[in-house]
Amino acid sequence: MTGPSFFDEGALVAVLTTQPLDRLLDYKAPEGGCLLGAFVEVPLGPRKVLGVVWGQGQGDYDRAKVRAVIRVLDAAPMRAEMMDFLGRAADYTLTPMPAMLRLATRSPGLGDPPSMRKVYRLGQGAPDRQTDARRRVLGVLSDYGGLAFTLGELAEAAGVTSSVIKGLVKQGVVREEESPRDLPYPRLDPDLPGVELSADQATAAQTLQAAVRSGGYGTTLLKGVTGSGKTEVYLEAVAECLARNRQALVLLPEIALTAEFLKRVEARFGAMPAEWHSGVTMTERRRAWRMAGEGGVQLVVGARSALFLPYRDLGLIVVDEEHDTSYKQEDGVLYNARDMAVLRASICSAQVVLASATPSLESWANAEAGKYAKLELPTRFGAAELPQMRAIDMRLEQLPSNRWISPTLQRAVETRLEAGEQALLFLNRRGYAPVTICRACGHQIGCDHCDARMVEHRFLKRLVCHQCGETKPMPTACPHCQAEDRLAPVGPGVERMQEEAAALFPEARLAVLSSDLYGSARALRAQIESIAEGGADIVIGTQLVAKGHNFPLLTLVGVIDADLGLQGSDLRAAERTFQLMRQVAGRAGRAERPGEALLQTYQPEHPVIRAIRSGDEEGFWRAEAQERRQAGVPPYGRMAGIVLSSPDVQAVFDIGGVLARNDAPLRRIGARVYGPAPAPIARIRGRHRVRLLVKADKSAPLQGALAAWVAQVKLPANFRLSVDIDPQSFY
Ligand code: ADP
Ligand code: ZN
Repeated sequence: MTGPSFFDEGALVAVLTTQPLDRLLDYKAPEGGCLLGAFVEVPLGPRKVLGVVWGQGQGDYDRAKVRAVIRVLDAAPMRAEMMDFLGRAADYTLTPMPAMLRLATRSPGLGDPPSMRKVYRLGQGAPDRQTDARRRVLGVLSDYGGLAFTLGELAEAAGVTSSVIKGLVKQGVVREEESPRDLPYPRLDPDLPGVELSADQATAAQTLQAAVRSGGYGTTLLKGVTGSGKTEVYLEAVAECLARNRQALVLLPEIALTAEFLKRVEARFGAMPAEWHSGVTMTERRRAWRMAGEGGVQLVVGARSALFLPYRDLGLIVVDEEHDTSYKQEDGVLYNARDMAVLRASICSAQVVLASATPSLESWANAEAGKYAKLELPTRFGAAELPQMRAIDMRLEQLPSNRWISPTLQRAVETRLEAGEQALLFLNRRGYAPVTICRACGHQIGCDHCDARMVEHRFLKRLVCHQCGETKPMPTACPHCQAEDRLAPVGPGVERMQEEAAALFPEARLAVLSSDLYGSARALRAQIESIAEGGADIVIGTQLVAKGHNFPLLTLVGVIDADLGLQGSDLRAAERTFQLMRQVAGRAGRAERPGEALLQTYQPEHPVIRAIRSGDEEGFWRAEAQERRQAGVPPYGRMAGIVLSSPDVQAVFDIGGVLARNDAPLRRIGARVYGPAPAPIARIRGRHRVRLLVKADKSAPLQGALAAWVAQVKLPANFRLSVDIDPQSFY
């Protein structure tokens, strides 16, 4: 939008609010005027709502009725490039602007004036008398290093009453201080020496640094085997960015990974960066948001939503483990943080580094086409070697029923245990057993609200629906035929693997790593650290363990079911399996001792399993690219997934049918629509779900056509339609 960048008092301004309206609203600029991009509070009916001055008012309302902006909030105005970014991200993902603005204003207390408040930190000495409650308070404070908490936050994090904290303050063990609400973060020093880089690493680092120095936009795929030093290399790019007084952002797929990363940042730059993810206190979130806008933070480490912070001058975005599926937000605004990082960088003249040992086919293809630069680190750092990969042909193994660890794998684990090394048993399934069946009538216990089977979680002593989260106690009688004590688990989850491992290796210390077993990010981090230090002999884990953790003692990875991911009809099944297997295998042999990965499979000659074993990555990508090109699917064609849902099953099929028949807006751009068909999970939380799939050429203007197409139908109340551009999952 072009126009003035300052509005005098009384001038008409157009305000974008966070309310679900499909247009900007006109207001009069307040006393003292306001800047373009100013965060404001405006009246809307009887309420006061948050908004941003988006441009000049349209003036198509009766001027006498236009109300005035209530006040300008104390926050740096939104910059033009951020407004541009939100607009283009909205266009790309077909998201209404108010929803984009909500993503960009996820800061508590945005409307509050700056002021002083009391915060609490670790003080001196030990309390006169230790209690559990006191220990928890001190534990929280020392876990979070120098971070300050408000009284409420500290009480909640430690699970104590505020009087416990006050008691510790009296003794000086906890310090109470007055602090301005939002302080700048400690300076990071890019001139501190980094580690000495190997020749390959140094070349890669220099190339990235030169790109950052250019001051323009560019994306580089940093492909390096696990343990090759990608992190060390991109930290040098961060250093260059900080030295040029621009801000840097490092996105990580998993908050459990941030602890190790923060330590490395502190070692490299002498201070901690800002964190932005769900495990951060409200106070710190508010501080990070404000300091991003004011330039009081140099480096943010965070989850995908950190991309929507109001950076003052963002010069570098690193997307670590760029292939990770958690970068795609699957509810609310359906965006892929990796793609949005590239968009944002192209608008604000920043560099993007996509780091991975197993890049997504999308990024591989973009590098191949010359759209992204590519840097490779082909070997592990130092003496560490990539693990040997071998298949265990399960057709030849003798296994009693309800056992999943083959004799071959068992022997391999025993050998490692005898050598004092760690083994990992990998199974990408949470819980005890995926299915519970009645032996009398064959009934499988399902969720009452979803078309999904309930998964037994024995630690929780409950059945859990992985779709909607509903849980119920394990019944003793079959809910269908009422037979007593005939319910039996079918198939393994990690909890069941633990049982089997305990029976096979009675001397070994076992640890299960699965996202549902830890109440807090902190507990999970503690477990990961303990494993890294040798606190377990056998680790049993879901894909959580595949994500970049460093377990130096781990030398054997046993994949319980390498075929698991290949069964679906998902177009990315092969790619995902390949990535996951290589990532998991990469956990082995990260230090001096060489590692080995054993894949249990019933189809050792399957092309994907063969590619994993042979390590012929380029061959795998080329074959996969060829298939996708022929099928005209991403990244060589465009796709959108449409899900209609409603409690009324007839209505979803009717409207799905109407859309499928009225496909003229899509045909105009050469796109085709498939469906409607019941979604793979045909009912979630009591809502029936129907899917349509739209396929188009890579160059087709898909978003405009989709918008025109769905606008043709009027949706009944309680009906939802979501459009997912570049869908990553089909459920
Ligand atoms: P990646 O991110 O590719 O998995 P990392 O950067 O985590 O690799 O490096 C793997 C391990 O090797 C880490 O412990 C790291 O500190 C160490 N390392 C990598 N490069 C060097 C180097 N040049 N000097 C010292 N240690 C290094
Ligand atoms: Zn359910």
